[in-house]
Amino acid sequence: MEKSSIKWNRILLKIGGESLSDKKDSPFSSASLNFIAEELVEIVNLGVKVGVIIGGGNILRGKTLSQKGIERTTTDYMGMLGTIINALALQSMLEKKGIITRLQTAIEVKQVAEPYIRRRALRHLEKGRLLLFAGGTGNPYFTTDTAAALRALEIGAGVILKATKVDGVYSNDPLQDVKAKKFDKISYEEILRRKLKVMDATAISLCMENNLPIIVFNFRKKGNIKKIILGEKIGTRIGE
Ligand code: UDP
Repeated sequence: MEKSSIKWNRILLKIGGESLSDKKDSPFSSASLNFIAEELVEIVNLGVKVGVIIGGGNILRGKTLSQKGIERTTTDYMGMLGTIINALALQSMLEKKGIITRLQTAIEVKQVAEPYIRRRALRHLEKGRLLLFAGGTGNPYFTTDTAAALRALEIGAGVILKATKVDGVYSNDPLQDVKAKKFDKISYEEILRRKLKVMDATAISLCMENNLPIIVFNFRKKGNIKKIILGEKIGTRIGE
């Protein structure tokens, strides 16, 4: 593959925790984990520098769990720990496929992963290692979407690829409203003004202030991520 045909050389992929599950009993499905790992192998083999932020929604979300009486900051820390569990599962699948990976966490769990150290993260990327970031931002009341925006800026990614279940950003939830219209391109302001549930407002604002484009795409369609890397217009582009 010619390097010149690659549009994005350094990316940050955000995958929701629910992508690891098949929605049955377990938070993990081997088919889902395998699928994600195979999609990532494709782009690592192109020589693209890849950072991945994994969510935790298949295990728990802090806000929802707090409704059961557990204090919100505690449930948020539980959520962050959940993202580390997810990253370990994905790391194992990637390594089985021969990909060299490193896992860095925003909350220290020294026995299982490196702490997040930006300079070390940059070095891993330069060496061609796929970098998994877990533990979100390390702070309660944030989300892994915001962590994605933050880490993307820190590692100098050219774009955030936001994996979703649908084909991009729609005027309304396309799973509920058949008349919902898909945008090929949309501004950050428009996302915020229309309160579209693509990424949370903190993440969108951070990207807006730093002119970091986001591509929202359907991760379940095989080959989509590679097509984006090679410059095909897939999904919705947020930003310039
Ligand atoms: N979380 C947090 N701070 C962060 C990132 C995540 O407190 O910086 C917690 C929060 O409770 C959240 C949970 O971890 O609900 C799982 O993350 P998220 O909801 O972003 O996962 P996703 O929806 O992407 O699977």
